[in-house]
Amino acid sequence: MNLLNQFKNPRLCEEVLTQLKNELKGPFRFMEVCGTHTVAIFQSGLRSLFPEELIHVSGPGCPVCVTHEREVAAFLELAQKDVILATFGDLMRVPGPDKKTLKDLQAEGARIKIVYSPFDALKLAIENPKEKVVFLGIGFETTAPTVAATLNLAKEQGITNFSVLCLHKLVPPALEALVSDKSLKVEGFLLPGHVSAIIGLEPYKFLAKNYGIPSVIGGFEPLDILQAIYLMVKMANEEKPEAINNYKRVVKDQGNLNALAMMDKVFEPCGALWRGIGEIPNSGLKIREEFAQFDARKLFSIEELPDVPPIKGCRCGDVLKGIIRPDECPLFKKVCTPQSPVGPCMVSTEGSCAAYYKYSL
Ligand code: SF4
Repeated sequence: MNLLNQFKNPRLCEEVLTQLKNELKGPFRFMEVCGTHTVAIFQSGLRSLFPEELIHVSGPGCPVCVTHEREVAAFLELAQKDVILATFGDLMRVPGPDKKTLKDLQAEGARIKIVYSPFDALKLAIENPKEKVVFLGIGFETTAPTVAATLNLAKEQGITNFSVLCLHKLVPPALEALVSDKSLKVEGFLLPGHVSAIIGLEPYKFLAKNYGIPSVIGGFEPLDILQAIYLMVKMANEEKPEAINNYKRVVKDQGNLNALAMMDKVFEPCGALWRGIGEIPNSGLKIREEFAQFDARKLFSIEELPDVPPIKGCRCGDVLKGIIRPDECPLFKKVCTPQSPVGPCMVSTEGSCAAYYKYSL
């Protein structure tokens, strides 16, 4: 059996689950903030094995879901201008204020191309020199370095018909916004493996230091997840909260220094809007002045986002803050389904509502 398979080994998982059950002294509520963890916990069947006292909530870990309705309105407006909009496929079905999606606009003739990386979008610009190609930059610290590297390459190559609508977001400031809200009761955080591979361990240390909350960077296999939760519960019981990196086969404590340097070269922190949470200071990235010629917000006059109301009836905001479970939303499964999603948490395959729909019924 190869080493990776050991992280799926049922016998080892059972052993850690037993240790976890023995360690639980009462209800323990933990939050994961990564769409891949959300899906992994359901898909592996772990959720059905968790003891009753272990309460799992999903936080703002799906980049599509946290994209604010005003940001969605902005990219839908942009798609209707004289541009080719290049985007990752998971944004195609996110509904805007009038329920229209990029997919609808594409059917009506808007030039929208699905790409698999920002470099593909740059290639599209190079192959179509008379067109303005805009890449939709949405995602956390995992995606932002590649977008930064693409902009750096565009600058080096003197490309003039390529830009990025930068709506990237940063995870640690969102965690701080959540924990500083006293109404949210979270006793431990399962920290995102992918984001942490870029930013490392340091940015999470405030959780233990300032709020007394244990947190563990965990991988995505069942054993990774169980070990991370066990460590959280143990730290809480011993009243010795810390931030621990338990995914060392992928995450270095110092993060990926090259990726961080590239991000810092191209982007600077700014306030950003999060669906259901509102504006969080320093939780977004904007393109630095040195790269202003690639900033779609400047080029297409969208520095101010359109003012639009939230989607009527959709409780995505409360789902993303862990206040309600998806099945507590009155629209869940009745009018909101993966085939006909009302909000982004049902659109994205990594959204909590979609995961609940698919795996918990
Ligand atoms: Fe929004 Fe649908 Fe989830 Fe309700 S079930 S919170 S309407 S995405």
